Amino acid sequence: MPLKAILFDLDNTLIDFMKFKKETSKAAAKAMIFHGLPSDEKTIYKRIFQIYDEYGIEYQKTFFRVITPFKLEINKAERIQQAAILAYLKKKFSVLKPYASVKPILRRLRKKYKLAIVTDAPRNKAWQRLVLCGLEDYFDLVITYNDTKEKKPSSKPFKKALSSLKLKPSEILFIGDNPGRDVKGAKSLGMKTALAFYGLTRGKSRVKPDYILKRFEDILKVVK
Ligand SMILES: [Mg+2]
Repeated sequence: MPLKAILFDLDNTLIDFMKFKKETSKAAAKAMIFHGLPSDEKTIYKRIFQIYDEYGIEYQKTFFRVITPFKLEINKAERIQQAAILAYLKKKFSVLKPYASVKPILRRLRKKYKLAIVTDAPRNKAWQRLVLCGLEDYFDLVITYNDTKEKKPSSKPFKKALSSLKLKPSEILFIGDNPGRDVKGAKSLGMKTALAFYGLTRGKSRVKPDYILKRFEDILKVVK
Protein backbone atom coordinates (compact mmCIF):
# COMPACT_ATOMS: atom_id res chain seq x y z
CA MET A 1 0.00 0.00 0.00
CA PRO A 2 1.58 3.34 -0.98
CA LEU A 3 2.15 5.98 1.66
CA LYS A 4 -0.53 8.67 1.50
CA ALA A 5 -0.20 10.64 4.72
CA ILE A 6 2.32 11.48 7.40
CA LEU A 7 1.04 12.07 10.93
CA PHE A 8 3.14 13.95 13.44
CA ASP A 9 3.15 14.34 17.16
CA LEU A 10 3.77 18.04 17.95
CA ASP A 11 5.87 18.57 21.10
CA ASN A 12 9.46 17.29 20.90
CA THR A 13 8.74 15.99 17.40
CA LEU A 14 8.23 19.21 15.40
CA ILE A 15 8.78 21.74 18.18
CA ASP A 16 11.72 21.79 20.56
CA PHE A 17 9.39 21.72 23.54
CA MET A 18 11.83 20.69 26.26
CA LYS A 19 14.20 23.50 25.38
CA PHE A 20 11.24 25.86 25.63
CA LYS A 21 10.21 24.49 29.04
CA LYS A 22 13.75 24.64 30.41
CA GLU A 23 14.46 28.18 29.21
CA THR A 24 11.11 29.57 30.37
CA SER A 25 11.43 27.88 33.77
CA LYS A 26 14.92 29.30 34.19
CA ALA A 27 13.62 32.79 33.38
CA ALA A 28 10.70 32.41 35.80
CA ALA A 29 12.95 31.19 38.62
CA LYS A 30 15.29 34.11 38.07
CA ALA A 31 12.40 36.60 38.20
CA MET A 32 11.03 35.08 41.41
CA ILE A 33 14.37 35.41 43.17
CA PHE A 34 14.85 38.94 41.81
CA HIS A 35 11.45 39.98 43.17
CA GLY A 36 12.20 38.62 46.62
CA LEU A 37 11.39 34.94 46.91
CA PRO A 38 13.68 33.80 49.75
CA SER A 39 15.44 30.93 47.98
CA ASP A 40 17.86 30.49 45.06
CA GLU A 41 17.38 30.03 41.31
CA LYS A 42 18.60 26.45 41.15
CA THR A 43 16.28 25.25 43.90
CA ILE A 44 13.27 27.02 42.38
CA TYR A 45 14.08 25.72 38.90
CA LYS A 46 14.17 22.16 40.26
CA ARG A 47 10.92 22.71 42.14
CA ILE A 48 9.18 23.88 38.94
CA PHE A 49 10.10 20.63 37.20
CA GLN A 50 9.01 18.55 40.21
CA ILE A 51 5.61 20.20 39.89
CA TYR A 52 5.52 19.52 36.13
CA ASP A 53 6.32 15.87 36.87
CA GLU A 54 3.61 15.66 39.45
CA TYR A 55 0.81 17.67 37.81
CA GLY A 56 1.72 17.46 34.13
CA ILE A 57 3.77 19.70 31.89
CA GLU A 58 0.70 21.79 30.93
CA TYR A 59 -0.20 22.54 34.57
CA GLN A 60 -1.35 26.15 34.88
CA LYS A 61 -0.72 26.88 38.58
CA THR A 62 2.92 25.91 38.75
CA PHE A 63 4.33 29.22 40.01
CA PHE A 64 1.52 29.65 42.54
CA ARG A 65 2.43 26.22 43.87
CA VAL A 66 6.11 27.15 44.05
CA ILE A 67 5.43 30.32 46.02
CA THR A 68 2.64 29.23 48.41
CA PRO A 69 4.79 27.18 50.86
CA PHE A 70 6.83 30.32 51.66
CA LYS A 71 3.74 31.85 53.32
CA LEU A 72 4.53 35.37 52.11
CA GLU A 73 2.37 38.43 52.64
CA ILE A 74 -0.36 38.35 49.98
CA ASN A 75 0.83 41.30 47.85
CA LYS A 76 4.42 40.14 48.01
CA ALA A 77 3.35 36.68 46.83
CA GLU A 78 1.26 38.15 44.02
CA ARG A 79 4.11 40.38 42.87
CA ILE A 80 6.45 37.40 42.67
CA GLN A 81 3.89 35.23 40.89
CA GLN A 82 3.08 37.87 38.25
CA ALA A 83 6.78 38.56 37.70
CA ALA A 84 7.31 34.85 37.12
CA ILE A 85 4.41 34.62 34.65
CA LEU A 86 5.66 37.62 32.68
CA ALA A 87 9.23 36.32 32.57
CA TYR A 88 7.90 32.97 31.38
CA LEU A 89 5.78 34.53 28.62
CA LYS A 90 8.50 36.88 27.46
CA LYS A 91 10.93 34.00 27.13
CA LYS A 92 8.31 31.81 25.47
CA PHE A 93 7.94 34.16 22.51
CA SER A 94 11.65 34.03 21.79
CA VAL A 95 12.49 30.34 22.42
CA LEU A 96 9.51 28.34 21.16
CA LYS A 97 10.66 27.19 17.73
CA PRO A 98 10.43 24.22 15.43
CA TYR A 99 13.57 22.12 14.94
CA ALA A 100 15.74 23.75 12.28
CA SER A 101 14.86 21.65 9.24
CA VAL A 102 11.15 21.22 9.97
CA LYS A 103 9.69 23.95 7.75
CA PRO A 104 11.65 23.30 4.53
CA ILE A 105 11.03 19.57 4.85
CA LEU A 106 7.31 19.95 5.55
CA ARG A 107 7.13 22.18 2.48
CA ARG A 108 8.55 19.35 0.37
CA LEU A 109 6.48 16.61 1.97
CA ARG A 110 3.16 18.36 1.58
CA LYS A 111 3.52 18.31 -2.20
CA LYS A 112 3.28 14.51 -2.09
CA TYR A 113 1.46 13.59 1.11
CA LYS A 114 -1.34 14.67 3.36
CA LEU A 115 0.14 16.00 6.61
CA ALA A 116 -1.55 15.93 9.99
CA ILE A 117 -0.87 16.44 13.68
CA VAL A 118 -2.06 14.18 16.47
CA THR A 119 -1.18 15.77 19.80
CA ASP A 120 -2.19 15.24 23.43
CA ALA A 121 -1.95 19.00 24.00
CA PRO A 122 -5.22 20.88 24.55
CA ARG A 123 -6.59 22.58 21.43
CA ASN A 124 -5.80 26.14 22.54
CA LYS A 125 -2.19 25.34 23.47
CA ALA A 126 -1.60 23.33 20.30
CA TRP A 127 -2.80 26.16 18.06
CA GLN A 128 -0.93 28.76 20.08
CA ARG A 129 2.28 26.82 19.54
CA LEU A 130 1.57 26.22 15.85
CA VAL A 131 0.94 29.90 15.16
CA LEU A 132 3.86 31.04 17.30
CA CYS A 133 6.16 28.69 15.38
CA GLY A 134 4.73 29.63 11.98
CA LEU A 135 3.57 26.05 11.38
CA GLU A 136 -0.15 26.78 11.15
CA ASP A 137 -0.45 26.41 7.35
CA TYR A 138 1.31 23.10 6.80
CA PHE A 139 -1.32 20.62 7.94
CA ASP A 140 -4.51 19.20 6.47
CA LEU A 141 -5.67 18.16 9.92
CA VAL A 142 -4.88 18.87 13.58
CA ILE A 143 -6.21 16.44 16.19
CA THR A 144 -5.87 17.64 19.79
CA TYR A 145 -6.83 16.26 23.18
CA ASN A 146 -10.20 18.03 22.97
CA ASP A 147 -11.26 16.02 19.91
CA THR A 148 -11.45 12.65 21.66
CA LYS A 149 -10.72 13.46 25.33
CA GLU A 150 -8.25 10.59 25.29
CA LYS A 151 -4.48 10.62 25.10
CA LYS A 152 -2.16 8.43 23.08
CA PRO A 153 -1.65 5.45 23.11
CA SER A 154 -5.47 5.26 23.18
CA SER A 155 -6.65 4.28 19.71
CA LYS A 156 -9.23 7.09 19.69
CA PRO A 157 -7.08 10.01 18.49
CA PHE A 158 -5.46 7.79 15.83
CA LYS A 159 -8.86 6.53 14.61
CA LYS A 160 -10.18 10.08 14.53
CA ALA A 161 -7.30 11.01 12.21
CA LEU A 162 -7.98 8.00 9.98
CA SER A 163 -11.68 8.75 9.60
CA SER A 164 -11.08 12.46 8.99
CA LEU A 165 -8.46 11.73 6.32
CA LYS A 166 -10.46 8.76 4.93
CA LEU A 167 -7.34 6.61 4.88
CA LYS A 168 -6.30 3.15 6.04
CA PRO A 169 -3.59 2.58 8.69
CA SER A 170 -1.33 0.96 6.08
CA GLU A 171 -1.29 4.25 4.15
CA ILE A 172 0.08 6.19 7.13
CA LEU A 173 3.47 6.92 8.64
CA PHE A 174 3.33 8.19 12.23
CA ILE A 175 6.23 10.13 13.74
CA GLY A 176 6.58 10.84 17.45
CA ASP A 177 9.13 11.09 20.25
CA ASN A 178 7.34 8.97 22.85
CA PRO A 179 7.69 5.21 22.34
CA GLY A 180 4.99 4.28 24.85
CA ARG A 181 2.44 6.75 23.48
CA ASP A 182 3.18 7.64 19.85
CA VAL A 183 4.81 4.46 18.57
CA LYS A 184 2.72 2.08 20.63
CA GLY A 185 -0.60 3.69 19.70
CA ALA A 186 0.12 4.04 15.98
CA LYS A 187 1.64 0.59 15.66
CA SER A 188 -1.26 -1.16 17.36
CA LEU A 189 -3.56 0.16 14.61
CA GLY A 190 -1.18 -0.99 11.88
CA MET A 191 0.44 2.32 10.92
CA LYS A 192 4.12 2.49 10.02
CA THR A 193 6.02 4.26 12.80
CA ALA A 194 9.14 6.38 13.14
CA LEU A 195 10.62 7.38 16.50
CA ALA A 196 11.82 11.00 16.74
CA PHE A 197 14.92 9.98 18.64
CA TYR A 198 16.28 13.56 18.60
CA GLY A 199 13.34 14.66 20.79
CA LEU A 200 13.26 11.66 23.08
CA THR A 201 12.90 12.79 26.69
CA ARG A 202 11.44 9.81 28.45
CA GLY A 203 9.79 6.50 28.01
CA LYS A 204 11.50 3.21 27.53
CA SER A 205 9.19 0.90 25.71
CA ARG A 206 9.38 -2.58 24.32
CA VAL A 207 7.48 -1.39 21.28
CA LYS A 208 9.91 -1.11 18.39
CA PRO A 209 9.37 1.55 15.75
CA ASP A 210 9.86 0.72 12.06
CA TYR A 211 12.34 3.57 11.76
CA ILE A 212 14.47 5.68 14.08
CA LEU A 213 15.08 9.32 13.18
CA LYS A 214 18.37 10.60 14.60
CA ARG A 215 17.59 13.98 13.06
CA PHE A 216 14.34 15.32 11.63
CA GLU A 217 15.94 15.27 8.16
CA ASP A 218 16.09 11.47 8.31
CA ILE A 219 12.41 11.42 7.45
CA LEU A 220 13.38 12.02 3.83
CA LYS A 221 15.23 8.69 3.74
CA VAL A 222 12.18 6.95 5.19
CA VAL A 223 9.66 8.22 2.64
CA LYS A 224 12.01 7.94 -0.35
MG1 LIG B 1 5.91 14.58 21.97
